[in-house]
Amino acid sequence: MDWQRQFYSENACLDYLKMQRWPDGFICPKCGHRQAYQIHTRELYECCQCHKQTSVTSDTLFHGTHIPLSKWFTAIYFIGSDKGGISALRLKKLIEVNWRTARLILKKLRIAMGHRDRLYWLSGNIELDDCLVGGKQKGKRGRGAAGKTPIIVAVETQGERAGYIAMQAVNRISHQSVEQFVQAHILPNQYVRSDGLRALTIIDKTQHHEARVTPKENRRRIEKQIPMRLLNIAIFHSPMNSC
Ligand SMILES: [Zn+2]
Repeated sequence: MDWQRQFYSENACLDYLKMQRWPDGFICPKCGHRQAYQIHTRELYECCQCHKQTSVTSDTLFHGTHIPLSKWFTAIYFIGSDKGGISALRLKKLIEVNWRTARLILKKLRIAMGHRDRLYWLSGNIELDDCLVGGKQKGKRGRGAAGKTPIIVAVETQGERAGYIAMQAVNRISHQSVEQFVQAHILPNQYVRSDGLRALTIIDKTQHHEARVTPKENRRRIEKQIPMRLLNIAIFHSPMNSC
């Protein structure tokens, strides 16, 4: 209800975006000048110096959109408030657009969420591991099983609690993919614990790394503990698999 009260109209949404984009007043994206004429009829700002016309939404997620911002904002609310995410079919009904539009909105929002996540680096005590997604299949189990996508996962540990989580789908678990993951998601010189997999030894290069071999009797128990919801997020947030 608070959300609806705050973003009840196009102008309310535009005002909010304006506050986010230009908290200290207008800045021309071309020349950096701080004064503009406002063309109210088209929601445009014309720079007083270089005369470039720009809008609050240009070069943002909403660039050139014909969908009302209030519908975008409602979509953001639903995607952010539901643990399991939201389908295009359900969004279509909620904001009264066609299925293609709903799918496009979700796609853009997911990419934006991926970009935001990439701005965050994990720090402190971190547990790092790899896992596979792809459902139950016959044949080889664990690493080397066919038709599965390997995922690298890192979690900040704060005592018994988990902090931020970084996940990424990779082609295979190798020195190269682990190194890229660590560079992209973990600040240098943090305390990282992992199992003794050889590909993970590359973590030593930039982190205080402790590799521990998981006792055999504990392996099955750990496999069972990975909640499906986390695995869904892995695909969802993976920069390499961004839709
Ligand atoms: Zn300008």
